[in-house]
Amino acid sequence: MERIFILLKKHYKFVSLSDLEDFYYHDIGLKNACHITVDDGDISVYTHLFPIIKKYQIPISIYVSPLCVKAGENFWFQEIVGYDFKKLFEYFSKVYAHEAHYEGKHQLYAVLKQLPIEELIKLIDSFRITEGIEPKSRMGLNLEQLLELKASGLVEIGAHTYKHPILANEDNQTVTYEIGSCILELEEMIGEKVKWFAYPNGIPSLDFSKREMEILRESGIKLAFSTENKRFSKSDDPLSVPRTGISKGNIPFIFAKLFFGSRWDILKGLFNSNKELEIRKKMVSPQKIS
Ligand SMILES: [Zn+2]
Repeated sequence: MERIFILLKKHYKFVSLSDLEDFYYHDIGLKNACHITVDDGDISVYTHLFPIIKKYQIPISIYVSPLCVKAGENFWFQEIVGYDFKKLFEYFSKVYAHEAHYEGKHQLYAVLKQLPIEELIKLIDSFRITEGIEPKSRMGLNLEQLLELKASGLVEIGAHTYKHPILANEDNQTVTYEIGSCILELEEMIGEKVKWFAYPNGIPSLDFSKREMEILRESGIKLAFSTENKRFSKSDDPLSVPRTGISKGNIPFIFAKLFFGSRWDILKGLFNSNKELEIRKKMVSPQKIS
């Protein structure tokens, strides 16, 4: 991680979210700028990332759930780490009508991401109980750590919904709750207006659309981040700012990804390596077996 930051620092100028807000709203120019965002509020932000950004004075922003921070709950995808995925897929097949056979982790994630969040959590809970698996202990930041990060002046805090739903799967009421109430509660927790948001999963059209952007606008959000892989520019909607994922891979891989920008996805498509996305695009909503 430290080597990656050193390398990024060599090639880019790290900017804060206020700089980005000025870039989008006040016609301020930015050159060779880079802003680091981290989703989900994993404890490693505090234990691993915080010492590095303090050492190099790098401003970052993190996107958290007030439910995880306050109640110590984990997101569904954190909870299923280490599970027998084939078994979980077979369990899913008993509850929902579909014809596919298990092909791997990417396929399991694709089918789970079709479900409204309450159904998904219920499915995982009942699987866990059937298998006699204990719920995992807290994997995310607690409030004290969050406030310490904020007090450093290097970490800005944004919202990431309560339970990490694929917002496009949810009805209006749930979306309003997952975005609007989540922002209000987070504001109360950190004692400050929340102006930043990262969409769970974050693929434009597939995971969120105009409806979500409108609720964010009404909630006072200035910048919302997607996972569309390209460089940010003036032509972006500030409520759908693209990002490049660097959480996986070594330095040459990350550099190639930054170098290729949006062309990276074309390369990826050629090697057929984003199987989860390909499956999700072809899917129709699963029906419960009554
Ligand atoms: Zn996330």
